[in-house]
Amino acid sequence: MTDTVAFSETEERQTLRREVAKLAGGYGREYFTRQARSGGKTTDLWMAIAKNGYLGINIPEEYGGGGGGIGDVAAVCEELAAQGCPLLMMVVSPAICGTVISRYGTEEQKRRWLPGICDGTGTMAFAITEPDAGTNSHNITTTARRDGDEWLLTGRKIYISGIDEADNVLVVARTEDARTGKLKPCLFVVPTDAEGLEAKPIPMEIVSPEQQFQVFIDDVRLPFDALVGDEDAGLVQLFAGLNPERIMAASFSTGLARFALDRAAAYAKERTVFQAPIGAHQAIAHPLAQSHIETELARLMTQKAAALYDAGDDMGAGEAANMAKYAAAEAACDAADRAVQTHGGNGITQEYGMAGLLVATRAGRIAPVSREMILNFVAMHSLGLPKSY
Ligand SMILES: Cc1cc2nc3c(=O)[nH]c(=O)nc-3n(C[C@H](O)[C@H](O)[C@H](O)COP(=O)(O)OP(=O)(O)OC[C@H]3O[C@@H](n4cnc5c(N)ncnc54)[C@H](O)[C@@H]3O)c2cc1C
Repeated sequence: MTDTVAFSETEERQTLRREVAKLAGGYGREYFTRQARSGGKTTDLWMAIAKNGYLGINIPEEYGGGGGGIGDVAAVCEELAAQGCPLLMMVVSPAICGTVISRYGTEEQKRRWLPGICDGTGTMAFAITEPDAGTNSHNITTTARRDGDEWLLTGRKIYISGIDEADNVLVVARTEDARTGKLKPCLFVVPTDAEGLEAKPIPMEIVSPEQQFQVFIDDVRLPFDALVGDEDAGLVQLFAGLNPERIMAASFSTGLARFALDRAAAYAKERTVFQAPIGAHQAIAHPLAQSHIETELARLMTQKAAALYDAGDDMGAGEAANMAKYAAAEAACDAADRAVQTHGGNGITQEYGMAGLLVATRAGRIAPVSREMILNFVAMHSLGLPKSY
């Protein structure tokens, strides 16, 4: 029986989860928040994941990866978050950039970029969001024009995660169609130290060593082969990265939800203010039980989306990945809120570190695609309702 039809993951996947949990548990939430609050990074954890073969587990073996699927790298992402170490760059570097380059890069491009994505020495950020276009990616204006046998890239990007920790950034831009003059989307790999590229950190309220940046791209000169894939099929290539992105974002959220619930349950068993531990009161127990159910449902949909994607069913995976991402973000937001409430006043102390989860899980409702855009997708594609925008 394949994992497409089974309701539990393979033994191999379950072992992977246990191993990643053990590794990440050695670092834990205290390490993660300490690094965040001191302006440090999680490079040693990142390199440990890479060294054990988990970072590029979804990338083909001939390029230094593990030859697995999105389900595997999503499991890694979830288990990291479940130990209190949610790493956004897992979503970006191996899952989005790694997938797009594996599927559409030339042989030369795969050899150049994939091994570094796998071993952690060539992390890649991803930049699509622009200040003016926002959710409406069709309106992006970052443009690449030909200059001899090179490209000149100019534009602005916003909320770009981890560009300070990345060697390259996969930029979604546009080129002019020679026949129609219309701008069409294209993907370029840009070295983060390229002349003309500047990144400014955006002060965010998320407690995380991974930061978001505004990126200014002014006439950045790129070799002709910085263009990934076909100039005429940019959209198709971009969509190849979107399902993995949603499946990873869902895993990031369910991992955080599990972490919040574990902490809340442990606290509710210990803390006694009347005769019995607070977990004996149904006002505390039921919301946590409800969150556990919601999280498990979201995990099931995430695993279904990953199984469909890995089986090559892009259409089926698209619907499931959107639903999974929506359900996971909602489950995580509620779990974090209930975990804070369970802790009473301790829920908003730095010592217990629970309140930081409120913002971290909240980001899952906004990025990489907002809950409203998923509801739009489901309304239109699953229910056949008219488009509203
Ligand atoms: C922590 C974090 C990390 C991020 N990392 C990256 C990254 O690495 N790379 C990258 O490219 N981007 C990144 N982003 C950007 C993220 O993808 C965007 O914030 C997101 O897509 C929403 O775009 P926006 O912020 O411009 O909101 P807007 O587009 O301004 O939307 C604002 C609100 O309006 C709603 N809305 C807009 N249009 C509609 C509509 N038609 N129907 C209903 N509601 C609508 C939205 O759902 C949202 O609630 C990150 C964001 C965050 C918060």
